[in-house]
Order: sequence, then C-alpha cells, then structure tokens
Amino acid sequence: MKISDEVYALDSTKRNYVYLILGEEIILIDTGLPKSGEGILNDLKSMDIKPHDIKHILITHDDMDHVGSLALLEKASGAKIWASKEDIPYILGEINRHMIKRIINYIIKLKKPKNINSYPENGMIGNIKVIYTPGHTLGHVCLLYKDIMFVGDLFRTKNGEIIMQPSFTNWNNQIIKESITKIDEYDFEWICPAHGEPIKRDSHLKDFIKKISD
Ligand SMILES: [Zn+2]
Repeated sequence: MKISDEVYALDSTKRNYVYLILGEEIILIDTGLPKSGEGILNDLKSMDIKPHDIKHILITHDDMDHVGSLALLEKASGAKIWASKEDIPYILGEINRHMIKRIINYIIKLKKPKNINSYPENGMIGNIKVIYTPGHTLGHVCLLYKDIMFVGDLFRTKNGEIIMQPSFTNWNNQIIKESITKIDEYDFEWICPAHGEPIKRDSHLKDFIKKISD
C-alpha cells in the first residue's frame, strides 16, 4: 500500500505492518512476525528492490511481532540494525520481559540479530527523527519521516479511529499517555501504526488525547 511517493506499507504484513521508506537510503521499519521474512522479501522483489538495497532496519520496540524476522532480514540484507538502548537487552534476551510477554518468549524462541546499534543521542538516522515514546515497552520509539509519523504500538487504529492497545500488552499505561501527548507536538500529516490502517492525522490525535485524559 502506497502512503506517499517514498513510503509503502508492505502488503504481506497486513494487520502487522512493516513499512518501507525509499528515501536517499532504503529503510525498513520493523520486521513483522517470525514467519514474515519470506513475504517481506517477496514484497521487495515485486518492487524491484534487492535485499542488499536495504541500508537500515529501524525497530520501534522489542515485541515478537516487530522483531520476529529481524535475524532473517539482517542476514539477507546486511543492513544496519537500530533499536533503543532500553529495548536492546530484551531483543537480545538478556532481560526477561513482563507478564504475558515473558510466557510468549518461553514458547517461541526467536533467532537473535548479530549486530544491533542503539539509536544515536541526537535522535537522527539520516533524515528520520527518532522520538522516545515509552509505555508500550520501556524503550518504544516513534519515527518521523517528513510528514509521516510511524507510531509502532503506541496506539492502533480501527475503522479510521485511534484506539488504545489492550492495556495488558502495555508496560506502563500511565507513561504511554504522556508519550501519546508528546507526539502531538510534532508536525506531520499521516499516522502509520503497526496495527490497523494508516490514517490522516486531521483531528484524530487531538480527539484521542482528550478522550484518554478525561
Ligand atoms: Zn505489535
């Protein structure tokens, strides 16, 4: 699905979107579920993009449906992998995750990436701004590229509206509200969530912030 001339939501990752940015460098945002890798590579192939054309893979947070195919895509592309310094120990399995996510990690053993870098202090990868938005996980980030905000699992969309992720999936349900308010300070036109469809910002974000602060 085309969001702009440079930004696509990969079709094979519907309902659990991986985004592709065709800017000065080719960048993937998140890597989907453990079995999403082949589909992602096929999506790229259909767009005439070779795995090695991908220069960076940016991870919004450590959940299995976002880092599930990270090791496979790292190997296929040789891309540089980035995540927040808070979430990297969870991605590498050095720290146990909380509650239900801990159980998921016992059941599904993910391959770990070989090299993972923490987002730079200046918060920029090329011309993508990394915005620290904890709450869903300790180190969750949103990523801003031109007029498009990639919100990961900060919230989701349903029928053209913004809704909260199920509260039991959030690390901290109070801090997440502060993070949602924080992204409203930035200029952008499109909201691209991992779950649910991309929507125009319009008044949706303001309305949602009002609703959750009542
Ligand atoms: Zn998710």
